Amino acid sequence: MRPVLEVQNLGFAYANGPLFQGLSFRLEPGEALAVLGPSGSGKTTLLHLLAGLLPLQEGEVLWEGTPIWGLREEALARRRLRFLGLVFQHHFLLPELTALENVLAPGYLVGRVDRAWAFALLERLGLGARAGFLPQRLSGGERQRVAVARALYPRPRLLLADEPTASLDRRQAREVLALMRALCQEVGAALVLATHDEGLVEGLPALRL
Ligand code: ADP
Ligand code: MG
Repeated sequence: MRPVLEVQNLGFAYANGPLFQGLSFRLEPGEALAVLGPSGSGKTTLLHLLAGLLPLQEGEVLWEGTPIWGLREEALARRRLRFLGLVFQHHFLLPELTALENVLAPGYLVGRVDRAWAFALLERLGLGARAGFLPQRLSGGERQRVAVARALYPRPRLLLADEPTASLDRRQAREVLALMRALCQEVGAALVLATHDEGLVEGLPALRL
């Protein structure tokens, strides 16, 4: 099987010095990797490199076998829409849209507006009864689950989650993570999860920065 993501000998430095060097790993569909390290260790930088949002300096990133180095900006952006889902610490839901409409929003970008699929995702995340709610009526954990559903709506091959539970309490954080992992496995998306909180991701293969 062709890996979803392959990273070869990746290195990166800002002006004040190197952050990491020689990182290599690969992820198959449905596999997950935790990126661990304290604040400032380079987790967000690594995820930006994997997403093609920051120019590579050393090494290579391949999306389903295609090296992203050398892809033109438009080609990269077009691929990214279908290949990649992103979840951040902040949910970035649009406040004037319902949960269901937020999940559907990327459908307008990829040209496939499928309400049944959007609703199925919300239901799978335990939010079937909240589909018509505005974000302000949802708890923090519920908002993050909507953000996960939105990221998975275009059926991406890879989900990148950067401290997705850092603003949640322990119980909600565990719930969101468990659902996110299960759903990625069900739809065959690979998952890279960055967190400073090692206790949250026990049992996941880990890369330490
Ligand atoms: P983490 O997500 O693990 O907290 P980051 O990737 O955000 O780590 O940052 C890693 C280090 O790089 C930090 O010391 C940060 O201050 C520095 N850094 C982040 N972005 C930039 C930038 N654009 N220019 C220079 N230094 C940066
Ligand atoms: Mg970070």
